[in-house]
Amino acid sequence: MVPVFLALGMNGQDFAKSFELYPAVSSAPVITQADADSLKAKSLAKVFRGGSDDEVALDNGVVQFRMSLQDFGKPIFFHRKASGKEGVGLPPLKLVLNGEKFAIGAENPRWIRVGARGQLFAKPFDVRQIPQTNYVWPPRGMGVRFMWASRDYSGLMIEVTYQMVDREPQVCQKVTVRNGSNFPVRISAINQGDSGYPSGVFTRDQLNWSLRPNRVVELPDGWFRVDGSGKLVVSGRMQALSSLMPWSGLQGQTLGSWPAEAKNVSGLKLKRGEVVLIPAEAKIPWSAPGQGDFDAVRLVMDAAKASGLVLGAEVDLSDIPGELADRVGGSGTPVCWHSFAGVFWRQNVLVNWKRLGIQVIDLKGALPSRCSQVGHGEHQTPDQAAIENHLAVRDLMRQGLSVGIVIRHPDVTAYGPESWE
Ligand SMILES: [Zn+2]
Repeated sequence: MVPVFLALGMNGQDFAKSFELYPAVSSAPVITQADADSLKAKSLAKVFRGGSDDEVALDNGVVQFRMSLQDFGKPIFFHRKASGKEGVGLPPLKLVLNGEKFAIGAENPRWIRVGARGQLFAKPFDVRQIPQTNYVWPPRGMGVRFMWASRDYSGLMIEVTYQMVDREPQVCQKVTVRNGSNFPVRISAINQGDSGYPSGVFTRDQLNWSLRPNRVVELPDGWFRVDGSGKLVVSGRMQALSSLMPWSGLQGQTLGSWPAEAKNVSGLKLKRGEVVLIPAEAKIPWSAPGQGDFDAVRLVMDAAKASGLVLGAEVDLSDIPGELADRVGGSGTPVCWHSFAGVFWRQNVLVNWKRLGIQVIDLKGALPSRCSQVGHGEHQTPDQAAIENHLAVRDLMRQGLSVGIVIRHPDVTAYGPESWE
């Protein structure tokens, strides 16, 4: 329920009260990029009161990002502190929900500005066990969140959160749509210029993506950084991936045959800490492995342990075991990720991988790009399916990380920019 006074409109100063207790941005230290890798950069990512009452800032010593409270959430500038350069703006994110335009920093007459606040986020990076990291991980980060409520659909909210972690010259933008209304919400456009959004689908003008009641969707992160000459660069770079997801570069090698013998494992000539992968061709039903599967995996597990290797497996997303009713279009077609078998599979694989000592999963293949099952309206078109599939794989990766299993995919990341650069 949105209090009535908010509907009358609040200005930047009203929202500035939420940030009164943060330090002034003028007190933020400057550190050079060279120092960014050292301990000097630890715990420097902070929220600050802006230069005036209607600004708020994120600063990690390396870069500073200022947001407007007056133009609620509008990025004012983003710059590298030691460069002496002016700084750049970010392209504004625009959404069309139920036919109504919403743009960050704009008037948005159909949306009520609910509040803005700073927040520590350690949780998204809550990983207990990562093979082979030489980094202080996870990096600590701070964010500022802006929230809007729909005037037309009670319970429909948009949240935009800007986040900054220690060391990195970049800012991350997260957008969450909470459909607490009783109606499906249709997203017909997501647009942010040449943004870091993965796959062309997210920047296409004509989506027809439906969010059912009580569904919460976190759109893929947008990552923005400024390079040495002060230019805005979307998407990523090696160092960001290395510090946000150090396991990305972990070396792995697939066993050539299955079931494998101990000598096949030692024959791979992997170094300690590297990953020996059970091949997708083993076709192990990971959601419900039989005793024979357990025994075969155990043998490789023991051999891997003896050589100091990490045990992993390849999994083919286009070949998930399931019943006919769970397939996208009859016999021989792939299992729909959103069907019962898809859900059953996702719920059970993590437990089984954990039991079997598997710490790394390399996903291959693709989830179905179309589904003709009745009631699966959310992914019946290729555009919708691409979005749903992307989010589903990302969410599986995050669930995996929370229990100490690293899940990798060539096109999807759990956190951080989408591409190596
Ligand atoms: Zn389906």
